[in-house]
Amino acid sequence: MIITTREDTIFLRIFAAVILSGKQLSDSIKAELAAEVALFPERYGRAPHLAVILVGEDPASVTYVRNKERACEKVGIQNTTIRLPETTAEEDLLARIAALNADPGVDGILIQLPLPAQIDELTAIKAIAREKDVDGFHPENVAALWRRRTEPEPNPQYCVPCTPRGIIRLIKAAGVDIEGKRAVVVGRSNIVGLPVSKLLLNENATVTICHSHTRDLASITRSAEILVVAAGQRALITGDMVAPGAVVIDVGINRGEDGRLYGDVDFESVAPKAAVITPVPGGVGPMTICSLLENTIDCFINRQ
Ligand code: NDP
Repeated sequence: MIITTREDTIFLRIFAAVILSGKQLSDSIKAELAAEVALFPERYGRAPHLAVILVGEDPASVTYVRNKERACEKVGIQNTTIRLPETTAEEDLLARIAALNADPGVDGILIQLPLPAQIDELTAIKAIAREKDVDGFHPENVAALWRRRTEPEPNPQYCVPCTPRGIIRLIKAAGVDIEGKRAVVVGRSNIVGLPVSKLLLNENATVTICHSHTRDLASITRSAEILVVAAGQRALITGDMVAPGAVVIDVGINRGEDGRLYGDVDFESVAPKAAVITPVPGGVGPMTICSLLENTIDCFINRQ
């Protein structure tokens, strides 16, 4: 095909980036997990069991919990959601967690964040038995992540946070060899930025972490062969901030005034330059839930 006009060139370049569908990948992983879980009752006497605690009725949290329930049902993981009122006292929540810790039929415990102001998040997270901490937020599990060099697959003894685990899986599924690559992570949260940085480091990438005090962000993001953006700022990353051929992972979820979801990456201007890019929605999000299922299964197997 002969390209004659500038418009044609732009058109082709827009579609040059491989759009990495987390939705498709997570669907195929879920099918594999369902086949695996179907064997568990005969092998172990029961299916894995995830308990989710939802305090209050924050609409986003309610949606996330519903999605988790559906995903569990799809792969055959037993799930229980404990819905507590917004006014729940910290000691009542801690008592619920203690009961779940002591229940031998529960393999994973997840507290849907954020929690109401009267409850200290870290206190609640610390109360979860380390071996049932499917979010990987317990301080001892965080320490384990930062200590160890590689993620022990396929059954890590302790869980790593779901979104970062899903991101690494997504990058690898695209056939990208992370080893030796310059990786830049925008964001340094406990949930995404920090753990994904460590997982990239574990894969032998050279990692730079950026945050709101970073000077000349564009000059750093332009150096990235792998760029992971988790800032919660719509269209923070534009085409001029990305190197040609970069792998761009957009973690951001920002609700626009039109009610639609937007990432932290300006897809229109970045897609023509990137080699690989994740869409929002349908990129990292579905992988997060998939990792939760995998973490639950890992906890179940580790407890046998
Ligand atoms: P946080 O708000 O906890 O952290 C945001 C990070 O981005 C901070 O480290 C902050 O820097 C940094 N940051 C903010 N603005 C800028 C800027 N202009 N330049 C550089 N760095 C900046 O968010 P989370 O990590 O929890 O989430 C990030 C995004 O990912 C959100 O949109 C969230 O909704 C989404 N998300 C998506 C998930 C999924 O499954 N797809 C799962 C979890 C989150 P500083 O530390 O200096 O404040």
